[in-house]
Amino acid sequence: MDFALNDEQKMTIDTVRRFIKEELKPLEDEVEDSGQLDPAKARAVFAKAAALGLYALNIPADLGGGGLSTVDRILCEEQFGHTSDILIRRAFGNVYEPLLVCKGGQVERWLAPTVRGERTCSIAITEAGAGSDAQGIKTHAKKTDAGWVLNGSKHFISDGEWSDFFLVSAKTGEKAISMFMVDKSLPGVTVGKDQKMMGLRGTPHVELFFDNVALEPLALLGDEGQGFKLAMGALNVVRLAQVGARAVGKASHVLELMTEYAGERKQFGSRIGDFQMVQQMLADSVIEINAARLMVLHAAWMIDAGLDARDWIAMVKVQAAETLGRVVDRGVQIFGGMGFCKELPIERYYRDARVYRIFDGTSEIHRTVIAKSALRRGAALFDLHR
Ligand SMILES: Cc1cc2nc3c(=O)[nH]c(=O)nc-3n(C[C@H](O)[C@H](O)[C@H](O)COP(=O)(O)OP(=O)(O)OC[C@H]3O[C@@H](n4cnc5c(N)ncnc54)[C@H](O)[C@@H]3O)c2cc1C
Repeated sequence: MDFALNDEQKMTIDTVRRFIKEELKPLEDEVEDSGQLDPAKARAVFAKAAALGLYALNIPADLGGGGLSTVDRILCEEQFGHTSDILIRRAFGNVYEPLLVCKGGQVERWLAPTVRGERTCSIAITEAGAGSDAQGIKTHAKKTDAGWVLNGSKHFISDGEWSDFFLVSAKTGEKAISMFMVDKSLPGVTVGKDQKMMGLRGTPHVELFFDNVALEPLALLGDEGQGFKLAMGALNVVRLAQVGARAVGKASHVLELMTEYAGERKQFGSRIGDFQMVQQMLADSVIEINAARLMVLHAAWMIDAGLDARDWIAMVKVQAAETLGRVVDRGVQIFGGMGFCKELPIERYYRDARVYRIFDGTSEIHRTVIAKSALRRGAALFDLHR
């Protein structure tokens, strides 16, 4: 088992880290204060990142992406976690893996321009009445001679305002759910209100409404009734990267700040880092972050090895999200009043972290998946030698 990083991996991580420090970090406060990223600045960070080959790193090279293995991509995603969601989206892209299902004319229409950064896509699965129960949706598409007619609504759709098209789940039969690529410009598509969130300032989360939207046959992703299953499978790696690895990166960033502060801040004539109760918070954070990181990398390695990583990704989702939650909570505590004060970014990290236990499947849903799998697979799930 080789845990060492090769020179190429180290160089990629360094490039991403430097780009975040020099180009993105200086924009964070402005995004936080104004609640948005200036579109001109968004285009500028995209152009700089693309010039360095940092856009769409997860997409195979023959489709114009960075062609990274899952492990290498995960190493970059961990670095992405050091900055804000909207800056990651604009600089590095959100080219969701389900789009790789595109074939024929779909590639030039939806996938390729997204990889080139000319178009942006949001995933639209959740509805007001169907969150954890993603199959309980009401949005439906009726087959016609000309293609499909889509009706329904979605909510909480991240980046929906900026996106040019949406990957939408819709019922196409009593039990069948299909996925459609729906251009925002189509008649009958309405972007509703921005649903203000506790954190992730700068990333809009919007309602979408579909009123008799006529879709051409090409808009169907995968086979009828199969797209949802395909999309859910492909979303596993998105979950590993965008939740698992980024949570580890975020927690590491916060721990770095906590450690620095504990080494400088003096009370009772000593550094607060000399007090054992503060040390425990630091030590627990180091242990938990390293454990979560190894789990993320293990799941990434499984994907690269062609193994079924679904159960591991469910475990990672819980472990990384909850580790982040505990670390940012300790971060606020170690910074004391300054942790609660908006003059420092700690309170923002605390707010931003909370949703990691909720989106992309709640901790409860993933625990259910893990427990069911344990009951079915037994020791194979937790004893690597079986
Ligand atoms: C910031 C943000 C961004 C998002 N971005 C997107 C996006 O881009 N696209 C998209 O499609 N969706 C998006 N979502 C939606 C997100 O995936 C859902 O919020 C999430 O899946 C939970 O669904 P819900 O909010 O309806 O909660 P519910 O499903 O109503 O759950 C409420 C509570 O009940 C619990 N619960 C539900 N069912 C069970 C069960 N069987 N067993 C035990 N407990 C259960 C849950 O764990 C939770 O604690 C986003 C949400 C947020 C907050």
